[in-house]
Amino acid sequence: MEAPGTPRPPGLLAGGGSQGPANPAPEPKQVPELIRLKRDGSRLSEADIRGFVRAVVDGSAQAVQIGAMLMAIRLRGMDLEETTALTRALAESGQRLEWPEAWQGQLVDKHSTGGVGDKVSLVLAPALAACGCKVPMISGRGLGHTGGTLDKLESIPGFTVIQSPEQMQELLEQVGCCIVSQSEKLVPADGILYAARDVTATVDSLPLVTASILSKKAVEGLMALVVDVKFGGAAIFPSEVQARELAKTLVEVGAGLGLRVAAALTSMDTPLGRSVGHTLEVEEALLCMDGAGPPDLRDLVTRLGGALLWLSGRAQSQEEGAARVAAVLDDGSARDRFQRMLAAQGVDEDLARGLCSGTPARRRKLLPRAREQEELRAAADGTVELIRALPLALVLHELGAGRSRAGEPLRPAVGAELLVGVGQRLRRGTPWLRVHRDGPALSDGQRRALQGALVLSGRAPFAAPSPFAELVLPPPARAPGEPQQ
Ligand code: URA
Repeated sequence: MEAPGTPRPPGLLAGGGSQGPANPAPEPKQVPELIRLKRDGSRLSEADIRGFVRAVVDGSAQAVQIGAMLMAIRLRGMDLEETTALTRALAESGQRLEWPEAWQGQLVDKHSTGGVGDKVSLVLAPALAACGCKVPMISGRGLGHTGGTLDKLESIPGFTVIQSPEQMQELLEQVGCCIVSQSEKLVPADGILYAARDVTATVDSLPLVTASILSKKAVEGLMALVVDVKFGGAAIFPSEVQARELAKTLVEVGAGLGLRVAAALTSMDTPLGRSVGHTLEVEEALLCMDGAGPPDLRDLVTRLGGALLWLSGRAQSQEEGAARVAAVLDDGSARDRFQRMLAAQGVDEDLARGLCSGTPARRRKLLPRAREQEELRAAADGTVELIRALPLALVLHELGAGRSRAGEPLRPAVGAELLVGVGQRLRRGTPWLRVHRDGPALSDGQRRALQGALVLSGRAPFAAPSPFAELVLPPPARAPGEPQQ
C-alpha cells in the first residue's frame, strides 16, 4: 500500500474504489434517493457521491436539490472516506493542471478557511513567487460573513479571475504566480456548490469545507500546501477543538490524495490587520508589500510563507523561510511580482504601476471609493482587549460587502478601518472605527452592533499577541523507493 503523503503522478486522482466489479454495476441512484440516504444518516458510496457531483455539473440536479443535499451533509456529516471521495469527485469535475517537469519542486500554494480582514493570499502569492516558487492559486469568493480573495482582486478595475489552464501556465512562466477562480474547466463542481453554500447556511460543514478547499488544490499539481485554519469568534468553526479537527482532516484527506498539506491554526477573533472590505484590503496588502503595514498581517504572511518554503524543501527551517519572505517584502520584490501579476491578469499597466509605486493616498485615489465615511468613538476609557470581527463583518455584509443571493454584485469600496489596535489604551471619545459606506447613515442597530465590537478593559496597555497558534504537519514524506515504516 502507498504511504500517506507520497506524491502521486499526475492523472492518479481517481481511485480508491474496488478492484473491479465482480457483478454488473448497479443502476446509479437518482438525486432524490441520494438526498434521502444522507438525510437519514446513511453513508454515501463513492459511486453515489460521483453520481451526485455529475448531476451538479451536468445541470440535471436542480438548485433546490443541491441545497437539500448540502443541508443533509451539513447536518449528518461525512466520514473520512466519504469526504475523500467528495474531494476527488469535485477535483475530477474539471481538468487537472499539468506543468513542465522542471517546476516539480517549486509548486506551492496557501489557502484559508476564511476570515475577516484576511488579505494574506494577496501578499503571499507574489512573495512566494519572489522567493522562486510557482504559485497557481485557485481561490474563492466571499463565503458567509468572510471575505473572498477573488472579490478583493476584482475591486481593482480590469482584474480578470477567469484564466484558462494555458493562460495560467503563461502567468507562472512570466510572473511566478496567478490568482484565479474556478471555471468551467477548473473544478466547476466546487464553483456551483460554493455559491450555493454561501446562501444556504451550509458553510460551516467540516466535510464540505475540506472537499471545497482540497479539490481546488488537488488539481494544481503541488509540492506543498499550507491551509490557514481559523478559530475564534469570526471563524467558520469558532471552537479551537473543532478547528483542530478540521486541520487534521485537511492534512489526512490531503495525504490520501497525494497532497502534502500542513494546517496552521490561527486566531480570528479580531480582524486581521486594520482594514476590512475589498479595496481597503487591497490597499493594506500593498502596504504589507511596502515592508510596512500592521504587524499581525506581516507576522502571518511570513510564518505561513516560511512554513511553505520549509515544507517544499526550499528552506532549512520555518524560521529561515520566514526570514526570506520578510526580505522580499522589505526589498520590494514581492510588490514587483504583484504589479506584474495585475498587469498580466488584465489590469491596465499604468494603473498597476500607479498602485504599486504610489503612496497610500495616491492608491486610494486609483481604486473605487465609497461615497461616505462615518466614524465611531469609544464610549469609555480603557485598554482594547478585542475588536470583535464577527459583528463588524455582519454590518459590512449588510452595507453591501457580502452577498445574500448567489452571483449578487458587491460594493467593492464598502468597508471599515480600525483606527486603534488591540492592547492600546483609549480615552472616551477617541475615534476607533471609520466605516466606508455607499448608502444611508448607519442605523441605530448597526451602530449598536459596531460599538459592541469594541471590548475595553482596565488593564495596562500590552503588545498584541500573534494570531499564529500551531502548525499541524503532514506525515513525513517518503523518499522514492524507501520502505514503509
Ligand atoms: N475556502 C474554500 O475554498 N472553501 C470553503 O469551504 C472555505 C474556505
